[in-house]
Amino acid sequence: MLMRPTVATIHLDRLRKNVQWIRAQLNPHVKMMAVVKADAYGHGAHKVAEAALEAGAEFLGVALVEEGMALRRQGIQAPILVLGQVPMNQIAEAIADDLDMVVFDPLTFDQAVQAGQFLHKPVKIHLKVDTGMGRIGLWPDHFDRVWIERLRNPAIIFQGLMTHFANADAREERGTKEQVQRFLDVIEMCRENGLEPPFVHAANSAAALKMPGTQFNLVRIGIAMYGLEAYAPMPADLKPVLELTSQVVFIKTVDEGFAVGYGSTYITEKPMKIVTVPVGYADGYRRGLSNRAQVLIRGRRYPVIGRISMDQLTVGMDIDDPVAIGDPVVLIGEQGGESISADDLARLLDTIGYEIVSGLSPRIPRVYGN
Ligand SMILES: *Cc1c(COP(=O)(O)O)cnc(C)c1O
Repeated sequence: MLMRPTVATIHLDRLRKNVQWIRAQLNPHVKMMAVVKADAYGHGAHKVAEAALEAGAEFLGVALVEEGMALRRQGIQAPILVLGQVPMNQIAEAIADDLDMVVFDPLTFDQAVQAGQFLHKPVKIHLKVDTGMGRIGLWPDHFDRVWIERLRNPAIIFQGLMTHFANADAREERGTKEQVQRFLDVIEMCRENGLEPPFVHAANSAAALKMPGTQFNLVRIGIAMYGLEAYAPMPADLKPVLELTSQVVFIKTVDEGFAVGYGSTYITEKPMKIVTVPVGYADGYRRGLSNRAQVLIRGRRYPVIGRISMDQLTVGMDIDDPVAIGDPVVLIGEQGGESISADDLARLLDTIGYEIVSGLSPRIPRVYGN
């Protein structure tokens, strides 16, 4: 099918290099889970999963049962952990597709045991302890005899013990040490009771790279693998995997005093060229970037002027600047030595790169390089 000119190019060669670099930072015997939830942060879960496994990741992480099931349908056989809560009505589906489950409440546990027995399938459970994040997870205080008995149940496989940090990306150590200590206490309680799950995991990208002591024997890597900031400044070896590009589709010349776009939020101060680019907030190029973001055309930075519409935006150029219909426009990526990253756009919106890339809508075709 012929495509619209606005595309996200996913450089799988860069993704593989990022994975290899991250792997090289890990302590010996630490395995890597490639986190591909939310369609691999907007990069495309199937392709990213394949590339990450090829580059040395041994585990995959998703947020939803649907996401794990889709990967199974696409032929992915590697272990997949559903990181979010598995709803009651999806427990059997998750087990049938051999998805590892995060469990932290007795009801889900009992249901999983029953479903596993009914399906004659192993039930792989990762017990999640909340050591300070405040979302899903069992309080360490509630990890008691009853839980120990549950985990000894031969009807399940106690595959992992896990927690999640609230401030791994922060400049100072805010509570991470305390979280680690609470986690170590639970690990110790398990050990004293003869429970040694094959996987013990806590670290996301920021923790794994900044605090190697939190790696245990598995790390859950998302953002760093995509080459975006897990914390600032990001290691220079990691390169952004996603590029967002479009084309100039129209050029017009206006006089001084022309009001551009909805709400007339930009008034020209001199005669200008106005270039139309067919990308808008329905593509995930957020309206909040109006009159703030820049784009690259012919290797130079130009401002997005006026409001970003649902499907189009306008760029201002000097009257003498050379430009032609069909010229490539880089919204995220590099051109002629200039670059604009998803993290740069995130800063303009007071958010994080995660939200920029995972917010690119399915309307943008993903094109895969290498
Ligand atoms: C998304 C997620 C990760 C990955 O975090 P990054 O900061 O992208 O590396 C790790 N663990 C859990 C539980 C997650 O939900």
